[in-house]
Amino acid sequence: MSHQLSEKINKLVPSATLEMAAKARELRAAGKDIIGLSLGEPDFNTPDYVKDAAIQAVKDNYNAYTPVDGYVELKKAIITKFERDNQLRYEPSQIVVSTGAKQSLYNVAQVCLNPGDEVILPCPYWVSYSDIVKLSDGVPVEVPTTLENDFKMTPQQLREAITPKTKMLWYSSPCNPSGSIYSREELRALADVLQDHPQIVVVSDEIYEHINYGVTPHASMAQFSDMYDRTVTVNGVAKAFAMTGWRIGYLGGPSHIARACNKLQGQVTSGANCIAQRAVITALEESPDRIAYMVTEFKERRKLILDLLNGIPGFKCNEPEGAFYVFPNVSAYFGKTLKGKTIGNASDFAMFLLEAANVATVTGDAFGNGDCIRISYAASVKEIEEAISRIKAALTA
Ligand SMILES: *Cc1c(COP(=O)(O)O)cnc(C)c1O
Repeated sequence: MSHQLSEKINKLVPSATLEMAAKARELRAAGKDIIGLSLGEPDFNTPDYVKDAAIQAVKDNYNAYTPVDGYVELKKAIITKFERDNQLRYEPSQIVVSTGAKQSLYNVAQVCLNPGDEVILPCPYWVSYSDIVKLSDGVPVEVPTTLENDFKMTPQQLREAITPKTKMLWYSSPCNPSGSIYSREELRALADVLQDHPQIVVVSDEIYEHINYGVTPHASMAQFSDMYDRTVTVNGVAKAFAMTGWRIGYLGGPSHIARACNKLQGQVTSGANCIAQRAVITALEESPDRIAYMVTEFKERRKLILDLLNGIPGFKCNEPEGAFYVFPNVSAYFGKTLKGKTIGNASDFAMFLLEAANVATVTGDAFGNGDCIRISYAASVKEIEEAISRIKAALTA
């Protein structure tokens, strides 16, 4: 019955990460012992001080519709956070709270893109960017990066990707899936290229800001005064605060873009969930030091998984500086036949790992890089050890 559906939705591909999670759930239901390293989701609980704020909000009867762009107090907490952590100054009219950072990103695409506008996406990029752009009638322009360059786009590559139709540049730093972080100097060099192209809006997705292992300090494109007026900074609480299901994200940016997002959201979802918004006020007002224990833990698991993966022939890893993923190049296996299965590409490889090792990962194709797979290490030490040993056994048997 797909003819009853719009061309737009028929062309849309399902989120590969959610799809892999669904497949893993299916196999589990069939009795298979699957270790899930496919989802980008911390395995911690939401901190107690944040949960307590939510409980209090329920008791205090925060049950009515909120302002479309978020509670005044939450916008104030976001403004204080931007100033405290990023030295960025915003007025309330420049802030919009949404149902997850994903909606913030979708809003920006919807309000900025006209049909045919090009959006530059350094690859690998976060799984939904390209489909959000397409849903907004934009054209994703993928710029492949290399493991040797730590999966970062060079100024030269940016210059070559720009056309008269280029409307936006989107990236995440720290990057999901590669864990790479653009230094202040690297961002400055990209900003220099953009000087000749004032029509280009930058979307800087900083949702992993706090999950940083201390090599490259976090930097924001909007910190450059010549970029401030055309950069949208997107952030949220899902990852660093272990609040994926609470669904709160936000953006700070030029007020004409923020107002447009507010207008769109007012016709689509209205304000984000009231209780979750109250809890996020507390999450943001408290010092980020209170969530550092999770980063310490992730750092140990990063070392563990890198050591284990480097012990498997054919895996080439960069050292991720942030987020909680490794993105090994596994192209050495392409063309080989393992347990009767021919591995043609990264999707075959991820499927082989699911079936032969009972470990769920995600194909790099979903992130615009067909040589790699993404493995999340937001899992317990025991799960990581067991998963990688199963992978090794399946590949060397
Ligand atoms: C998880 C993730 C998001 C989505 O965040 P939500 O607040 O859960 O919508 C956005 N960008 C990147 C890079 C992510 O990894």
